[in-house]
Amino acid sequence: MSYKEYFTKLVQEIGEKEGAVSPSIVNSASFGYGDSKTAEAIFAGSAKKPLYARVGNPTTAKLERVIASMDGGVGAIATASGMGAITLACTSLLAAGDEVVCVGGLFGGTYSFFSETMSRFGIHTHFFDVDELEGIEAAINDKTKIIFLESVGNPNMRLADFDAIAKIASQSGVALMVDNTITPLSLRPLERGADIVVYSTTKIISGNASALGGCVVFRAVGEKEEKFKTNRYAFLEKFIEKMGENALVANGKKRSLRDFGMSASAYNSQLTMLGLETLPLRLERVAKSVEQIVEALRVAGLNVNHPSMPDHPHHARYKQYFEIGCGTLFTIEMGSKEAAFEFLDRTKLPVITANIGDSRTLALHMASTIYRDFTKEEREFLGISEGLIRVSVGLENPQEIIDDFIGAL
Ligand SMILES: *Cc1c(COP(=O)(O)O)cnc(C)c1O
Repeated sequence: MSYKEYFTKLVQEIGEKEGAVSPSIVNSASFGYGDSKTAEAIFAGSAKKPLYARVGNPTTAKLERVIASMDGGVGAIATASGMGAITLACTSLLAAGDEVVCVGGLFGGTYSFFSETMSRFGIHTHFFDVDELEGIEAAINDKTKIIFLESVGNPNMRLADFDAIAKIASQSGVALMVDNTITPLSLRPLERGADIVVYSTTKIISGNASALGGCVVFRAVGEKEEKFKTNRYAFLEKFIEKMGENALVANGKKRSLRDFGMSASAYNSQLTMLGLETLPLRLERVAKSVEQIVEALRVAGLNVNHPSMPDHPHHARYKQYFEIGCGTLFTIEMGSKEAAFEFLDRTKLPVITANIGDSRTLALHMASTIYRDFTKEEREFLGISEGLIRVSVGLENPQEIIDDFIGAL
């Protein structure tokens, strides 16, 4: 499926042909069952009616259907934030003593989630750069439950060889989980061998900083291989028996959402759908702008980093794997914190903030903000230098962004 088809698909699936056209908000925390027999049937799963908003809400259910269909998943679970999505997806598969192989960039919150928080619960994570394929393979053992990969290194802009990593996941029988926050539609991880996709919908999916949110999309169990019917995932057996191809979704709800409660609010789910309607349009626009801006700034003498540049080590992967570019981000290396601060403070257009994927251009100095609590070694691994600025390109006229940045030099 080409991303052009999503222009039709998303607006058609989100809008209703009868009654209210725009998705309506069902803003109730609880739902009356009518009678005791129906209550029993709802709890048993045989009556498909809302139970309680922590485990499902009609507005959120619609968002989940649309995102699952967008990615070719069997189902999805929307969450309160992107970190909520990562927490749900990981805790639904992990128990104390298990291991994770984490590949890529990595988003700061994800790095501390694995290195600090999951380790407190007895889960050990091995971290690798995208090109350390031998190390990745060697780190996998019987305790490994997840290979976690970011579609684009944020902010190191390194791109994985997806097919090579999917092959390792398939041969070793380990679940491949991809954080596709930065490249929805442009990369469709389930089509490339991933089993679970996680999103922060806060970013380009809602696209305008109006709603914090996340979503986890699951592949149908048994669709491509028998990976989840092995001893490694013995806890899934009862879900596979009862729910068949939907086992991963049911497992996510019962083993994580129900007890951790990182549930999406109906109001945010509605806002997220309003953003999602125009996602392909915005992605197409931003992909063109990023390439144009990066090239103009490079010619102007700025030290920019983006895989659209022919001399980027992963330029071939940029062409091979991404249908409409690799998202809104690029970085600028200014050499020192002082130079980075001075440059940023002279620009007029970008909002100085930690968010990405907004309609507006955003920028931030990395080492003094998101990565300030990280050690020197951790920053080195994540590619955070003293002078690094991350830019998230918005919908403005790209020439005005170029002029503003060059003017600030
Ligand atoms: C922002 C982000 C997250 C976390 O999402 P929140 O909605 O802020 O919790 C996770 N992964 C990536 C790649 C992100 O950019």
